[in-house]
Amino acid sequence: MKMEYTKAPLKILLVSYPAQGHINPMLRLGKCLASKGSSVIFITTEKAGKELRTVNNITEKLVIPVGNGSLTFQFFDDGLSDDDPIRTSQTTYLPHLELVGKQFLSQMIKNESNTPISCIINNPFLPWVCDVAVENEIPSALLWVQSSAVFAAYYNYFHKLVRFPSVEEPYIDVQLSSVVLKYNEIPDFVQGFSTFSILGTIIMEQIKNLSKVFCVLVDTYEELEHDFIDYVSKNSVKIRPIGPLFKNPQIKNASNICGDFVKSDDECIIEWLNSKPPSSVVYISFGTVVHLPQEQINEIGYGLMNSQVSFLWVLKAKPPPDFTHVGFKPHFLPDRFFEETSGRGKVVKWCPQEQVLAHPSVACFVTHCGWNSSMEALTLGVPMLTFPAWGDQVTNAKFLVDVFGVGIRLGCGQAENKLVCRDEVKKCLSEAMAGPKAEELKQNAIKWKKAAEAAVAIGGSSDQHLDAFMEDIKARFKRYNTLS
Ligand code: UDP
Repeated sequence: MKMEYTKAPLKILLVSYPAQGHINPMLRLGKCLASKGSSVIFITTEKAGKELRTVNNITEKLVIPVGNGSLTFQFFDDGLSDDDPIRTSQTTYLPHLELVGKQFLSQMIKNESNTPISCIINNPFLPWVCDVAVENEIPSALLWVQSSAVFAAYYNYFHKLVRFPSVEEPYIDVQLSSVVLKYNEIPDFVQGFSTFSILGTIIMEQIKNLSKVFCVLVDTYEELEHDFIDYVSKNSVKIRPIGPLFKNPQIKNASNICGDFVKSDDECIIEWLNSKPPSSVVYISFGTVVHLPQEQINEIGYGLMNSQVSFLWVLKAKPPPDFTHVGFKPHFLPDRFFEETSGRGKVVKWCPQEQVLAHPSVACFVTHCGWNSSMEALTLGVPMLTFPAWGDQVTNAKFLVDVFGVGIRLGCGQAENKLVCRDEVKKCLSEAMAGPKAEELKQNAIKWKKAAEAAVAIGGSSDQHLDAFMEDIKARFKRYNTLS
């Protein structure tokens, strides 16, 4: 028998893939929904949960009050030891995660039947969550953690609406709404030669499952990606742009709930930035998964030694929990690097990126162009030097440089297999730090920053979409659960 609809708060399950770039936007969404009165349960694997509990102030199953609602964490064991060979490849890990994740989620839904679940939200790489939602007659939505333009590219590829490069025709351009993407600017997961073509396969599974979700939430905003949001909403599923989530003013009071996998000495980093003049520091980070060849790190290192700029550089000490990099070796820096950059450089394993990008001493960001990093920098008004590796990063780099006007192209994606030399690093750094190009990038970045602030303010476009999304859940939940 179906349950009676009550006026109880919405109870929303968020199921996140255990990677930093997926957990961050999902947790930010969770805080927003909780602030607006929902009871949110955040679910991911125990392996990620272990890191989250160690680094942050998180206790599993504790109900944390957030605004008018609450947030609870729940972790499930994927049943694998840390050194299980299944973990060494996404090709073996993703199907395993589906098997154990489905069982866990189905059981959890049964256990929670006293207070029915109003909606389940997953991020990509877990397309099976929609199937569990349908089986249990629970409304479900997708939180897309890349751009709307990239979503449109995958949608077009899946439905064969435009021609994409292939083994037979590797160098053709792709017309995507008003933008033309060159062969090396297309999210390369869908190209046969990608190292991570399994991720292309899983994303296609998600695109195939779009009929099962009532909408797709995207960490973007109307003013930034209007054409693509409109295109997908008209041709496929309803897109609700609700970002930039990290800037939503409602989550300020929940800022102590953090999903970092790595601990950083925040105070020491901010103090160091405080000691530097305004717009004088280059921030460098390649995200949590990309691991550049050591040779490339050397060139960046020499570029910094030769350029005399101040810099804050994040160099990873270990691979992320969802990625067992076989033979991962931490990077080392050129001889005499620390002596020659003494007083003007800081190398860390992790930093509070939002705070760093918001700091007035930061002039520009050398980034791998992950969508979270791109949105954080763009909407904090920070120009970028784009250094993508693969996947959507190459497409994001194209948009940052040619469409949003906030970036200078530095690297061009791992498929090109080109070493960016130290002189190029030095030249691009000086262009981005001072002079007419720097000024142009800064002005554009400030324009996007202001538009983002307006979008997330109460009554702004993203805020309205978030409210409308919650109304959608209520209406669907009522329809599913009213006694007939
Ligand atoms: N991040 C951070 N500190 C660091 C490096 C990264 O807080 O030292 C955060 C960053 O702010 C972003 C996320 O990690 O929210 C990385 O996501 P992104 O999509 O940019 O890249 P990915 O790691 O998924 O490739």
